[in-house]
Amino acid sequence: MKTTSRIFLIVLCFGVSALAADQSIALKAAHMFDGKSNTLVQNAVVIVQGDKIVDAGSNLPIPNGAQVIDLGNATLSPGFMDAHTHLTLDFSGDYNLLRLKEVDLNVSEQAIIATAHARATVEAGFTTVRDLGSHFVGSREFVDVALRNSINKGVVVGPRMLVATKGIGATGGHFDPTSGFRDFLFGREPDYTDGIADGPDEIRKAVRFEVKNGADVIKAAVSGGVLSLADEVDTPQLTPAEMAALVDESHRLRKKVAVHCHGDQAAHDAIEAGVDSIEHGSFMKPETLTMMKRKGTFLTPTLMATEWIMNKIDNYPQALQAKAKSAAAARSEMFRNALKLGVKISFGTDAAVFPHGQNAKEFKLMVDLGMTPVDALRSATANDAELLGIGQKVGTLEKGKLADVIAMPGDPTSDITATERILFVMKEGKIIRRGAPTVQGISESTTPDIAAPVD
Ligand SMILES: [Zn+2]
Repeated sequence: MKTTSRIFLIVLCFGVSALAADQSIALKAAHMFDGKSNTLVQNAVVIVQGDKIVDAGSNLPIPNGAQVIDLGNATLSPGFMDAHTHLTLDFSGDYNLLRLKEVDLNVSEQAIIATAHARATVEAGFTTVRDLGSHFVGSREFVDVALRNSINKGVVVGPRMLVATKGIGATGGHFDPTSGFRDFLFGREPDYTDGIADGPDEIRKAVRFEVKNGADVIKAAVSGGVLSLADEVDTPQLTPAEMAALVDESHRLRKKVAVHCHGDQAAHDAIEAGVDSIEHGSFMKPETLTMMKRKGTFLTPTLMATEWIMNKIDNYPQALQAKAKSAAAARSEMFRNALKLGVKISFGTDAAVFPHGQNAKEFKLMVDLGMTPVDALRSATANDAELLGIGQKVGTLEKGKLADVIAMPGDPTSDITATERILFVMKEGKIIRRGAPTVQGISESTTPDIAAPVD
């Protein structure tokens, strides 16, 4: 080959690949929820180039050479976020079976299973999750960190993850992984390396240990929980001094703090200490909610978790049934009060209590309890982006944001269950799903009958 034609060929090749990299994608749909407006934008167009949105609006001109994807009578939305998942934990409708699996399965196998959970979640339209606690009893593996890193490297398909590593909590509290098992079954009492810490100094050490090992966010249990065998659901489990140390050390290291909390007293102390979000919040009284509103603390209500447990209540041990019933009885009124008082609501489900990939069922539960569909959509987009501290990058469809764009059929403001039938998912400009989901086993075949909210 002559030198000139070789150069021409090289120029041609580079020219073509540069063109491919720069090629825009124009997403078109009848409607768009942009994460900011109170109404849907009609005749929507989102222009994507590389991993970013370069424009979004109504009837925008299509750039020359753009690939047009016309989604028809659908609604475009920023990728949903779930501020409370446990992607590394497996779901089982049978509590005792799950408990057996926890000690039976090798942690490597559980990590491989978690990759399917990640895919089911992103295919359901959830392009970001805050994963709040991952532990395997008797193991020191950081499976959530590994999963996050593998997704970031493109090895595993899944949502962007902000991970908490091991939840921090008191000896015998909601997060104590040995609670309910025979004493010393695992050879030693758990310590700060398992997230179990007593006293302000140990709490600081646990926070530092988790950040050292890759935590993006700190999770702690400040009150009892429903699915733990050795505690009462609403008792405070950290002292005010321990909570102050938790928040101070986390914020010092620029990490936000999410606390598992059902009880009112514990919530009061945690909000006063300056936590960023209260997870669950079942028994919170109006005075405590008013304090949240004043301090700008988010509430992540996880209605799906209660709903699922109540629907499968016979599968849980007697002691847990009583705790679940009392939390379920309190949480609907708490949620309505939070709406009335204007508390900031973040969208979070506690996925793993129910099968991964069904996160969007939370929307209907929120709307059935009085939230407007637009506010429910905003909770899973702009609100969660604010809580997660990533509002500069994602959460709305506008110029300069990362191209996390999903589409659902019809109009979710007239039928919120459209959120459960996602038909298109793009994450950072890459199309992850167009058409049927690939993870049928997890997201479809185990679909339960979800009854009306439990009052
Ligand atoms: Zn949880």
